[in-house]
Amino acid sequence: MAKEKNPEPKTNKPAAPVNVRSISEEEKPVRRRFPGPRDASAKLRVAIERTAYAELIAHAKSSLDAEVCGVLAGEVCEDDEGLFVDVKALIRGTAASQASTHVTFTQETWNLIHRTLEHDYPELSIVGWYHTHPGFGVEFSEMDLFIQRNFFPGATHLALVTDPLSGDVAICINTAAGIQYLESFWVDGREQKCRVPARSSMKSEEAPAGGAPGGSGDRLQALEARVSQLVQALDDMRGFHYRFMLTCGFVFCLALIAGVGYTIYKQLSSRYEPPQLNSYVPVPVQIGDKTVLIGVGVADWKVPPELNALLLQEDLLKQQAEEKAKKEAEKTNAPQAEATNGAPAAK
Ligand SMILES: [Zn+2]
Repeated sequence: MAKEKNPEPKTNKPAAPVNVRSISEEEKPVRRRFPGPRDASAKLRVAIERTAYAELIAHAKSSLDAEVCGVLAGEVCEDDEGLFVDVKALIRGTAASQASTHVTFTQETWNLIHRTLEHDYPELSIVGWYHTHPGFGVEFSEMDLFIQRNFFPGATHLALVTDPLSGDVAICINTAAGIQYLESFWVDGREQKCRVPARSSMKSEEAPAGGAPGGSGDRLQALEARVSQLVQALDDMRGFHYRFMLTCGFVFCLALIAGVGYTIYKQLSSRYEPPQLNSYVPVPVQIGDKTVLIGVGVADWKVPPELNALLLQEDLLKQQAEEKAKKEAEKTNAPQAEATNGAPAAK
């Protein structure tokens, strides 16, 4: 191997070694039964308490854009089957550790984690770490493996990654053969399947030996996944926009058709129809010495309401005019009548 140096620390990883004293495995395993089935078998049995798991999901779902991280607090235990890890609580990493797109554990984050651990969970120790990959799967990146190797090197140190969009969970542990994926873990005694990426643990062990190509390939894949996500989002947005415009156009056309239809209907229904002759009766009339037939026609005319109203108004006006004329005539007649009262026999 020409390359002896690990190429990884070139990226945005903390250059200075950070204080990881309290995650060493100095404590003796607690002797008790595994909180799950007797026949549970795995490279390392991992039990997560219900509340801790709920907290993990809640923290993961709290950020669907940026990655979030934190540590797993619990106990390393032992029963007849061997060692197992019991995760009892989570300690969330601070926002400062999520400044970059990829999570990092800064000294500041570690200080806060240790303070929280001492204050809230003095009886527990750090048994691993977790972080999220929102929307791009649960495959461990080179950076993730770097963190695991350098900060969580113990045989019972877990690395958990979850994708809040797919709900997938993957857990890696350190084994003699390198970092490997677990196939299941137990929440409240019930088995949960882990996601084991297709290019499984074999790849993660080849990567360090292969050096930069593996790392950059990994990053390239993550980038590709992100780009395809963005393209998908863009397509979705475009599709939504198109559907929205289509709906608007459809509604507009519908309104136009309805308007035109109503106008046509209105015109048709209110068309003035000429009177229609219903019956015709000839009446003989004697004029002088000649008999003449006079026709009397009975016409049927549906008077449209507008016209009817007009006719009625005209009638009313006529009546009023007549009454007025009558009154005026009376007025003018009255003085004459008085004047001629003295001589009634004028005729
Ligand atoms: Zn990661």
